[in-house]
Amino acid sequence: MKNTTNVDYLIVGQGIAGSTLAWELLKCNKKILVIDNHHKDSSSIAAGGNVNPVTGKRFVKSWHIEDLLLAANSMYTEMEKEFGVQIWEPRSNVRILHSEEQEKDWLARAVLWDKFFGNSLDKLLLKSIFSNAAGASEITGGGRVNMQLILKKIAGILSEKNILWSIKFDYNRFSIKQDSIEYRNGNEIICAHRIIFCEGWQAIHNPYFNYLPFQLSKGEALIVRFLGEYPFAHSIVNNDLTVSQIAEDHFWVGATNVFNDISTKPTKIGLDELLNRLELSVKIPFEIIEHRACVRPTIKDKLPLLGVHPNFAAMYIFNGLGTKGASLAPMLSRQLVNNLESNIPLNSECSIARFELC
Ligand SMILES: Cc1cc2nc3c(=O)[nH]c(=O)nc-3n(C[C@H](O)[C@H](O)[C@H](O)COP(=O)(O)OP(=O)(O)OC[C@H]3O[C@@H](n4cnc5c(N)ncnc54)[C@H](O)[C@@H]3O)c2cc1C
Repeated sequence: MKNTTNVDYLIVGQGIAGSTLAWELLKCNKKILVIDNHHKDSSSIAAGGNVNPVTGKRFVKSWHIEDLLLAANSMYTEMEKEFGVQIWEPRSNVRILHSEEQEKDWLARAVLWDKFFGNSLDKLLLKSIFSNAAGASEITGGGRVNMQLILKKIAGILSEKNILWSIKFDYNRFSIKQDSIEYRNGNEIICAHRIIFCEGWQAIHNPYFNYLPFQLSKGEALIVRFLGEYPFAHSIVNNDLTVSQIAEDHFWVGATNVFNDISTKPTKIGLDELLNRLELSVKIPFEIIEHRACVRPTIKDKLPLLGVHPNFAAMYIFNGLGTKGASLAPMLSRQLVNNLESNIPLNSECSIARFELC
């Protein structure tokens, strides 16, 4: 006996993209089903969840950061109310500056992005902790998102409602109709008005969307415990590495950035690089608790990917979160839901229509 279930949306992948999308669709009382293979090789699990409004060697303000922060604050606060746990912790970023020239550049930029620029920090304290610090400045407005907790809590909600299938999505079990799709899993058939692929970097295996110009980058990170007092626990410190507290005495330290390696295993080379950079920058001894690795879903032009397949009206993608899933996912999932439900056009900068099917 076949058992057919009809839903409005089938979501494939429950990383931060699929989780925030499921959250928005459930809020609109949509009938959904989510397929995720136990977060296998999910970059949201490896990520630090750090949000920094001003980044890069040239201290550039992040893409649409004001709007992203508004949406992130609003969605993560809603989640905190629902789950009764902290998801989003506002924190300043401390940018360590390595020379007087850098300090001058920084001050020149501070005039442009002044709403994000905080105080200069005490140089004696800085130099007692960071071997390579000439100075430092505070960037306000950022924070840390507990992405792993979001995935766990959303999976809990979906499981309770019996709308999470913990299986690998198999493209051979999938068929596309005029204005819907079908997915068969044994005797179970899911008929969905729309399917939305949120597979992160693993979308390179998706035969419908692998024409998109992914430029994946592998990242490795450590979880460490400092064996001495670390006075910057309440900030995210951006030195040669980012150091950010994730639990009472655990700190996320990352990350490496290697192109064209899509293995998700931690490597000796990655470990050596992280240790070398941490030892050269922080004076406090530490011990390693964990070594993580995954692949970032980055696109050549570094912008997100949202929208409908050029040939199949029932098939969508939500991807390309690159290095910034924590800040991008809330705003983009809302934009996608507005597009799906109310036909509001997507921001052309992140629409997949910018790439031709070849
Ligand atoms: C080391 C590292 C550090 C990072 N640090 C930060 C940071 O500090 N701040 C920040 O904002 N971003 C950071 N990022 C980037 C961030 O991780 C990504 O932008 C974001 O997690 C991407 O989310 P996603 O949902 O698109 O993909 P993923 O998290 O990869 O989720 C995809 C999901 O789809 C599932 N899936 C895929 N294919 C299938 C299939 N065929 N069947 C079933 N399920 C499937 C996977 O199991 C997974 O659960 C970091 C990334 C790395 C690697």
